Amino acid sequence: MKIAISGAGIAGATLAYWLLHAGHEPLMIERAPALRTGGYIMDFWGGGYSIAERMGILPAVRQAGYQVGEIRFLADDGAKVGGFAVDALRDLTAGRMTSVARGELAAAIYRAIDGRVEAIFDDQISAINEYDDGVQIVLQSGEKRDVDILAGADGLHSRVRELIFGAEDRFEKDLGYRFAVFETTGYETRDENAYIIHAAASRQIARFALRGGRTLFLLVFRSELLNGVEPTGPAETRALLKATFGDAGWESGRILAAMATADDLYFDRVSQIRMPSWHRGRTVLVGDAGMAVSFLAGEGAGLAMTEAYVLAGEISRASGDYAKAFAAYDARLRPFIEGKQHGAESFASTFVPQSEFGVWLRNQATKLMALPGAANLMLGKSFRDDFALPDYA
Ligand SMILES: Cc1cc2nc3c(=O)[nH]c(=O)nc-3n(C[C@H](O)[C@H](O)[C@H](O)COP(=O)(O)OP(=O)(O)OC[C@H]3O[C@@H](n4cnc5c(N)ncnc54)[C@H](O)[C@@H]3O)c2cc1C
Repeated sequence: MKIAISGAGIAGATLAYWLLHAGHEPLMIERAPALRTGGYIMDFWGGGYSIAERMGILPAVRQAGYQVGEIRFLADDGAKVGGFAVDALRDLTAGRMTSVARGELAAAIYRAIDGRVEAIFDDQISAINEYDDGVQIVLQSGEKRDVDILAGADGLHSRVRELIFGAEDRFEKDLGYRFAVFETTGYETRDENAYIIHAAASRQIARFALRGGRTLFLLVFRSELLNGVEPTGPAETRALLKATFGDAGWESGRILAAMATADDLYFDRVSQIRMPSWHRGRTVLVGDAGMAVSFLAGEGAGLAMTEAYVLAGEISRASGDYAKAFAAYDARLRPFIEGKQHGAESFASTFVPQSEFGVWLRNQATKLMALPGAANLMLGKSFRDDFALPDYA
């Protein structure tokens, strides 16, 4: 089958890999002029880890990854006020876990298909016309392509979803935060192999030192601080972050100064996408486009890979009956994904405490993680993937 994929992110490239592997002909359309390599460092385990292994990219992912030793919460003066050793989490996954920058993971997946799949960059779908025997996609450049089916893997703000299913606000569940990610080189304070976190009421900054003198920063705040005004472009976003974090204490002044020189600033809502069905006619959604869990679920990238793997597998198993494939894909994944979404939603209320007292309380709670069995009790459920990867070979 010829399958158009909108979006060459984590889900899109994984889908292209497995479709190609099964003998299909994927065509990728990516809006950005080149592969997008931004994003924060994330823990990578579970289904995504196993799929990376089956794709043969696990050694590259592990090499690009970090064995994080500790999550450390700091006070204004830099003193440690909470945290725990990450070994407690690694034990929950029997060592099958690494921490990897999103950009490195995206690049490793893309390398596995680069040159083997047709990819159109710097363009996007502007219209979709479905016929009895196929779909015609019209690109913004004016080019038209005829394919058998279309997969929307174009992220949280999916264009395919909008064109086929309707406006984003019908499906988006805002979990009440905004976040920004950027990377700089030469930030003096490093703390190798530790996630460093500082929280003030309703705001939180994290930094992680990468190889090559680079540092990643993650700024998260409760959306009440927006006062109802969403930033509309990069300049407004930077101004908003300066106003929101200017008096957040700790290293906030230095970090905001570093942000001024960062060229790739990623800013978005912490949201989920919840849909009653992930397919209509010859179109199907995968990854954040159809079922975003948000980073509060801890494994958005791994889940997107799992979804792409299952979708490709069901398409191949159904031997051309795309309706049967889409129904099987939905039925297989829905309980698992909805469980992850509910877990992340529950975690949202305590993720960034609203008051200084709440921050203190959370710091104390993190220290309990050092107690024997506590990691399993507190996080075991969210770390276990109650989903057996099907074998489509
Ligand atoms: C640059 C970047 C940084 C990110 N940083 C973080 C982070 O720090 N923390 C976090 O939790 N999540 C982050 N995410 C989201 C995270 O990658 C996803 O939640 C998860 O990996 C699921 O992947 P996905 O492939 O569904 O979506 P994504 O990884 O978001 O990929 C979607 C892809 O579709 C492309 N696209 C978007 N619109 C169109 C369009 N109209 N036509 C064609 N292509 C389109 C995008 O450029 C992107 O390449 C980031 C995403 C990107 C693109």
